[in-house]
Amino acid sequence: MWFEDLTPYAYLQAAASSAPALNVGWLENGHPFSSGGLPPDAVERLAHLVEFGATNATRGMHFCDLCAVTDDDASRAWGHAEIRVVGADGTRYAAPTLIHHYVSVHNYQPPRPFVDALMRVADLRWEVARERDLCLGCRSQMARARTDKGVRVVDGRREPVVAVWFDCESCGTSYSRMFADE
Ligand SMILES: [Zn+2]
Ligand SMILES: [Zn+2]
Repeated sequence: MWFEDLTPYAYLQAAASSAPALNVGWLENGHPFSSGGLPPDAVERLAHLVEFGATNATRGMHFCDLCAVTDDDASRAWGHAEIRVVGADGTRYAAPTLIHHYVSVHNYQPPRPFVDALMRVADLRWEVARERDLCLGCRSQMARARTDKGVRVVDGRREPVVAVWFDCESCGTSYSRMFADE
């Protein structure tokens, strides 16, 4: 799936209409992209967001088609969700979670406004965001939309947990975080 950098995001329609954003990092073989990579702190921040702040998970997996195609899907880079960051002027940017792979393996260089937006909240650690219900992508206070009770298995032991769903109105993300059910 290819979208040119900084064109209006339209991939998932509901997300596009409730929180308009600009595309960044939707690369595909055959479409040239700017290269040069990013400084290590920005790469690390991307990895952090992809791991803890992904939104809009889709059912399908997207594979990186810039990597050599192998018969073995297990070894290919893939993604199934998106991240959002917000610039100082309020502009939202929507990138696939594969963007971390594109930057670190294929030397992709995202547009400057995206990088600035990414680094605006670079000091916000996951632990702090989690403790205070802050959005990892834009540092806004998030509303708890709903909670689901469940069970997770840790080291063979069953442990009651609460999955709390958050909506961030500022950047338009929506995701769940898991807490122990005390
Ligand atoms: Zn690749
Ligand atoms: Zn946010």
